[in-house]
Amino acid sequence: MARKVLVLGEVRDGSLRNVSFEAVAAAKTVAEGGEVVGVLIGGSVNPLGAELVKYGADRVVTVESEKLAQYTPDGYSQALMAVIGEENPEGLILGHTALGKDLAPKIASRLSSGLISDATAVEVAGGNLVFTRPIYSGKAFEKKVVTDGLIFATIRPNNIAPLEKDESRSGDVSSLSVDIKDIRTIIKDVVRKATEGVDLSEAKVVVAGGRGVKSEDGFEPLKELANVLGGAVGASRGACDAEYCDYSLQIGQTGKVVTPDLYIACGISGAIQHLAGMSNSKVIVAINKDPEANIFKVADYGIVGDLFEVVPMLTEEFKKLKV
Ligand code: FAD
Repeated sequence: MARKVLVLGEVRDGSLRNVSFEAVAAAKTVAEGGEVVGVLIGGSVNPLGAELVKYGADRVVTVESEKLAQYTPDGYSQALMAVIGEENPEGLILGHTALGKDLAPKIASRLSSGLISDATAVEVAGGNLVFTRPIYSGKAFEKKVVTDGLIFATIRPNNIAPLEKDESRSGDVSSLSVDIKDIRTIIKDVVRKATEGVDLSEAKVVVAGGRGVKSEDGFEPLKELANVLGGAVGASRGACDAEYCDYSLQIGQTGKVVTPDLYIACGISGAIQHLAGMSNSKVIVAINKDPEANIFKVADYGIVGDLFEVVPMLTEEFKKLKV
């Protein structure tokens, strides 16, 4: 059954985040041959519309306003509700990002709709659209079928492959004028944590350190390895609590959920709360002095040893491969 599906693209620092393209790919499956309409909201987003089309959107609707230059749930919900009112879609896909997690429930409640949150896959099976999502902190997966009403889902970054970019694709990019009012949140300043380089939640490679790293300086070899692999540095809560690094790096139940292609856990014991944030990574490598450490139960490759010896060796070997 062909459907019209809206996809909210996410803009950061003037560029579309990867999850936008992954959401378009998910929307293509949901549309089952119907139309995929990208939606971009922000201060100045029109120039990015063509990019969304190259990744598979059939056309794009933008809502631009100075009041939308920064994300606020009030502003974005007004803009998105206006587009939904105009387009009357049968499907709606957002990224399961900080923005998506905040905005999607608000929109679902406004529409009196259900919401499949944090989907890691979507497919057509037996004539039904089937979404897969993790439950019990990633220990199991459930399959959800929407039988009625709007098909509304947020998708976890790094799980659904984007379509290949097609430079020859073209599609209409139109703007919708929306009178944005009643923004109750005033953003006075945006304070960015100094996380240089690759965005942790979208990184293909994550090198994470735990209490075994022993100090702030102990993270340096991990940063070097992440750098060589083009990845990001993450941490356990143990390392954050010990003030070896900032909480913005924390991975786990009360931190970020990541699903990179490669997760290298260094000096992390593998507490259940940590596993909740990384156990769905595609390949897990654990480096730990303790052969009984729980992290080895989820690891594809385990290295029993001192991380301060093993990590620099890995860095040197990866450097050779890059030459
Ligand atoms: P430890 O458990 O102390 O492990 C350190 C590991 O380093 C050990 O296995 C040790 O063998 C190894 N090691 C030491 N030196 C070396 C060396 N030189 N080389 C190699 N290995 C070495 N934790 C999270 O991570 N994320 C969360 O989101 C989170 N949320 C929580 C929520 C709640 C409600 C609670 C109660 C806890 C939460 N925790 C979370 C904390 C969690 O229970 C653990 O305490 C924490 O993950 C432990 O961090 P760690 O593995 O770095 O430290």
